[in-house]
Amino acid sequence: MDKCCCHFFLLFEYLWVFQMLKQLRVISRKVLVLYEELKSIHDALGVRCNGCRLCCQTAAYNIEATMLEFIPLALHLIENGEFDKWFEKAQRAVPTDRCVLLVDESTKIEGGCSFYDYRPLVCRLFSASYVRRRNIEVLSCQFLKRELSKKMDRLVDAQKYFDCLYDIDPYLAVQKRDINTAFKQALEYVGMKFLLNTPPSLPFAS
Ligand code: SF4
Ligand code: SF4
Repeated sequence: MDKCCCHFFLLFEYLWVFQMLKQLRVISRKVLVLYEELKSIHDALGVRCNGCRLCCQTAAYNIEATMLEFIPLALHLIENGEFDKWFEKAQRAVPTDRCVLLVDESTKIEGGCSFYDYRPLVCRLFSASYVRRRNIEVLSCQFLKRELSKKMDRLVDAQKYFDCLYDIDPYLAVQKRDINTAFKQALEYVGMKFLLNTPPSLPFAS
């Protein structure tokens, strides 16, 4: 291949990678807008977990999430050079383990989540929303249910938020998996789209 073709090919590769990254950032921003909205709702409810992390201590298969819910965290890990470390952990985690993001030794008031600001939708809806089954049921643990039941008018419809996720990206939001698998697959997805496509330096100087 002559030098001119080679430059053209590399330039094309660069544009492709930037396009991929741009798409992922757009998706991530839309998901983060939903997360911010839920944060405001949760803050306004005034219910606090005060360092409790009991609901995170169950097996991963009891907490279901979609890949899309982890796209913001996956991008955050890449941008902060922590991708490899967490990808390794995610690959080792299985559905019968606890959530791979939970750290027992954390003393944070928010609980033991390694990335509380990037936790998925499912963790945000718990104790801030309701589901419509035969009756309307508060999505909550036993400790907060009574308090939240008195604030029904301020809780959100969980299904509405799952529909919003689907509207952002149907492919990434269609299937729920156990939380460890969803995290791992989101890392694989972002890694494939971004890291594996990172091109070598353009040889403009040569
Ligand atoms: S939602 Fe309930 S179980 Fe979960 S951390 Fe808060 S108080 Fe504990
Ligand atoms: S992502 Fe964070 S908040 Fe959600 S289950 Fe895991 S440790 Fe708990």
